[in-house]
Amino acid sequence: MAKCIVCGKKGFFLKLNRERTCAPCKQKEEEIEQKLLRYISDLEKEDKAREWGVAPWPYEMLASMYRQKKDHRKEVAILERFAAQKYVCSPQAERLLERLKEVD
Ligand SMILES: [Zn+2]
Repeated sequence: MAKCIVCGKKGFFLKLNRERTCAPCKQKEEEIEQKLLRYISDLEKEDKAREWGVAPWPYEMLASMYRQKKDHRKEVAILERFAAQKYVCSPQAERLLERLKEVD
């Protein structure tokens, strides 16, 4: 029986996509992804002016999302994008960069 890995909905007639999520979950996920990407663009623009360094959490969220989906290419891309920024040194930032080494 088909079962959505995000919301846990199941049924014989439930349609799942390649990532084994149902349509509403897929849509929600895409909305979150778009929001995070927009947020990151804003952060990076803002940081060009202020140079405080970007916060790692939106990058980390996206990287986790891509990892869950086994989208290796996008996971590396977002980690590299983070590594190319000025960032505030923190355990979270270190963890992200460690992860880039792992997946590379
Ligand atoms: Zn679902």
